[in-house]
Amino acid sequence: FPEIRSLGQYPEYWARHDPSRAALRTAARVVDFAEFDRACARVANYLSDGIARPGELVGFMGKNSFDFYFALFGCARTRAGLVIFNWRLAPAELAAQIADSEVRHAIVEREQAELWQAACAHLSTPPQAIWIDEQETLEKRVAGCSEKPVAKRPHLEDTAFQLYTSGTTGNAKGVMLSHGGTNMMRLSEHLEPTYKWQAGDSFVNGLPNFHLLHIGIMLQCLYNGVAIDIVRQFDPAAMLATIDRMKPTLLTLTPTMLQMLLDHPDAAKTDFSSIRLTLYAGSPISLGLIKRAIATMPGEFMQFYGSTEAGGATSILRPDEHDLEHEEKLKSCGRPLPLIEFRIVDADGREVPDGEPGELLIRQPSITTGYWRQPELTQQAIENGWYRSGDIARRDEEGLYYIVDRAKDMIVSGGENIYSAEIENVLSTHPAVAGVAVIGVPDPRWGESVKAIVIVREGHAADEDVLVAHCRGLLAGYKVPKSVDFVEAFPLVPSGKVSKKDLRAPYWDGQQRSVA
Ligand code: ATP
Repeated sequence: FPEIRSLGQYPEYWARHDPSRAALRTAARVVDFAEFDRACARVANYLSDGIARPGELVGFMGKNSFDFYFALFGCARTRAGLVIFNWRLAPAELAAQIADSEVRHAIVEREQAELWQAACAHLSTPPQAIWIDEQETLEKRVAGCSEKPVAKRPHLEDTAFQLYTSGTTGNAKGVMLSHGGTNMMRLSEHLEPTYKWQAGDSFVNGLPNFHLLHIGIMLQCLYNGVAIDIVRQFDPAAMLATIDRMKPTLLTLTPTMLQMLLDHPDAAKTDFSSIRLTLYAGSPISLGLIKRAIATMPGEFMQFYGSTEAGGATSILRPDEHDLEHEEKLKSCGRPLPLIEFRIVDADGREVPDGEPGELLIRQPSITTGYWRQPELTQQAIENGWYRSGDIARRDEEGLYYIVDRAKDMIVSGGENIYSAEIENVLSTHPAVAGVAVIGVPDPRWGESVKAIVIVREGHAADEDVLVAHCRGLLAGYKVPKSVDFVEAFPLVPSGKVSKKDLRAPYWDGQQRSVA
């Protein structure tokens, strides 16, 4: 769609070409593209009146709602970016992000008032909050504003939105994504044959709006005129109810969310028949889980591999590659998308042969413009246009890529590199294992040793000896867990990924790991 050059124009394009097409839906309300477009125009005018200045950021914190979409696409018509804060942070963490982003104004849901105020108590000059709630919506607040285009329209290099990375491995960084850089427009065109967009498509996304996996796929949908079925906040029962009621055709989840959905008692009575494509991404999926999903859910599956810094998906495992007869492929994150290049290198930056693991470097036109106010970190992360993903990957002779671990989660035991995902895959095939995370724990002899932390499936029993014996037949001796602990649930980062940093913490008790 050559008329679309910035995010704010998505609703505008469809309002012109198909105004009564549904854009945003809940069980109680449908907003069509014409109404969506007008709301965005009013928000843009409201923000242009001293709130959104070129080059600055305006804050947003709230759950998924109509107002979130109006704020995002309205702000995207100005020359300021929207920084979407995570409402699951601790006050001190949120305070650090508010201070870092230098926002002067933030649209905040009253539901989050306690957290917001606790965070602001840490700041000498807190931003001004624009409070919204179910009665006093942003939409109502801007009702009297002009619908005319604002004078200062965004440039391609302006930040459209900024997200703080989910922080599974360290301190959160503000990742800037520009209108020109967000790869949604180009990506959508390349993904057309995979999505096979159809009239009447609608999309439900379990992720919170402060995660790129929410925004990225949502943008692809709205770019293509596909309606969004809004789930305010992920919980398996609410998601299943939305699927049942709204009959979406497309679904996005992280593997952890997919597992929670399938394990929920309501899953058996949910009508999944409308779903024709399930997209999963965000962390490695275990072989056991994806096989179970393929066996129990209708429709096709597609895996995305990407990151906030990369501005979205960089590779996909296509639906036709979800083949139970070639199970090995299900462990792959597919092949890079057009215009995206992958290289796997060793510690000296030399490319490694196929089959060998190394760090995955990514080059693509849509990469982040950098970390907000952190040029040095940006330089370390992106060298000569190549983004250092921090992921260890290998490529097979067919050109399929496999994420073997995050560099920071790799376990170094007696000088051997051990990839947690490989062990997790083996353990996940044991019938008693509902969930597993493998971490390195301190070991006086080997530096680190392998520990598996397991959630036992309801109605099953398992102990350390049984699970270790299961691994013995399938893994080299040094990879077999030295110990197994059992838990009821894993600590998750807000996007729903297992937080290995938190899982490791009690075992390391302040000691430093040698893996950076
Ligand atoms: P931080 O960088 O602060 O630790 P984060 O890495 O979780 O946070 P994101 O940008 O949300 O931040 O996640 C990107 C990472 O998620 C990738 O680098 C990769 O490790 C993992 N990931 C995403 N998709 C997949 C996938 N399909 N398979 C395996 N890993 C994936």
